[in-house]
Amino acid sequence: MLQRKIEGRLFSKEEILDTTDMQQVKAIEITENKKMCFRCGNNVEDLFFQSPCSRCDSEECWYCRNCIIMGKMTECSNLFFLPSMTSIPHQRSTYLAWKGELSPGQSVASKKVHQAVVEKEDLLLWAVAGSGKTEMMFEGMNEVLIKGGRLCVASPRVDVCLELFPRLQEVFPDVAMVCLYGDSTDVYDGERFVVATTHQLVRFYEAFDVVFIDEVDAFPYAKDPFLEYAVKKAQLLTGCSIFITATPDRKWQIECDNGKRNFVKVPARYHRKSLPVPQKIWIGEWKKGIQKQKIPSKILRWMRQKLDEGCPVLLFFPEIKVMLEVAVILEQLDFEPLLTVHSADPERKEKVQQMRDGTIKLLLTTTILERGVTFTNVQVGVFGSEGRIFTESALVQISGRAGRKFDYPRGDVLFFHNGVSKNMALAISQIKMMNQLGIRQGLLDEK
Ligand SMILES: [Zn+2]
Ligand SMILES: [Zn+2]
Repeated sequence: MLQRKIEGRLFSKEEILDTTDMQQVKAIEITENKKMCFRCGNNVEDLFFQSPCSRCDSEECWYCRNCIIMGKMTECSNLFFLPSMTSIPHQRSTYLAWKGELSPGQSVASKKVHQAVVEKEDLLLWAVAGSGKTEMMFEGMNEVLIKGGRLCVASPRVDVCLELFPRLQEVFPDVAMVCLYGDSTDVYDGERFVVATTHQLVRFYEAFDVVFIDEVDAFPYAKDPFLEYAVKKAQLLTGCSIFITATPDRKWQIECDNGKRNFVKVPARYHRKSLPVPQKIWIGEWKKGIQKQKIPSKILRWMRQKLDEGCPVLLFFPEIKVMLEVAVILEQLDFEPLLTVHSADPERKEKVQQMRDGTIKLLLTTTILERGVTFTNVQVGVFGSEGRIFTESALVQISGRAGRKFDYPRGDVLFFHNGVSKNMALAISQIKMMNQLGIRQGLLDEK
């Protein structure tokens, strides 16, 4: 598709045709023993392949496998771009139409984000699940817009983008916005406000004054080493990034402790009640039990009690196979109706909605629901919480499902285990640390 020339965007020759006045850069830089894709930052030898090429007629033209989904980049092709112009201050004193009020914790973070934007400094916004992190970004975003700059809100997760986009449109009603992700029909046309999956960032070059990266630790950002490059590349040389997460990885936590990373912690939820601290409950050799069609009685008793009280129960599993086996046994024990959900489940959305609506009360899930979902008054259990899939951040996120609502700020979080893992201990101490900080800062009503 032919596109208009827009500053801050990288174009292939096929996308733009008329390249007058545009600068260019080699798509793949090949030196003696190293290759590097300019677009996506890939520099792993195994991710470059050779094939016969119609552009240069070579039989063996190198191309990048890593970003091929966005169109093949070969060693003989160039990428075109317009250098970004200095931003022009706009007439308005504000673009923000939000009338809500920030909690004291949010307010501190909001000021810090604003300051980072003004001073063009990277910032980690470490905010517990349920603290209302989106609102903490509004003032910072507004500042970028007032200065006539460009900003991008990026998340590794499409569903986060889809949820944020209408919300942000409502808050900044007079600002042209675009939402970019793999299957989106929207095309970037120079909008100053971009919501995009982190993958889409590879299409930009020195475009944004500020990139807000939501759920920075969520797959695939955490697993994709090239996305850090993509974020830096998409940002102006004078720009900065605001990283937002409830669960930064160990490395970042240590950098915060050592004063090597600019950060702000928001330890309290907007309802001023502490985070539920997970309890560890030993259930022994549960794998052997399942083979004999048995589920530990501690789990059954707890679920029965919570369901009788009318609470929805969300039970996490380390593997799909275990989850499905347990589901069959539970149905035989009259735990009905129940549903199971996992990442490849085509009815995932509908099932989550049924749980929200209360038409089912018992939902078994893999870590797919560790974040991004809120169920009123939900009680949370983790089956086999010692499993390797339950990382520190997964367990903190899972625990963050409980007690989110103003009317139901409490809820059980039970780690049913056969031996306490390091991740379980780290997750519990992270949650306790945040609660203590919340008390110290006067952001919580009681212990
Ligand atoms: Zn070629
Ligand atoms: Zn590439």
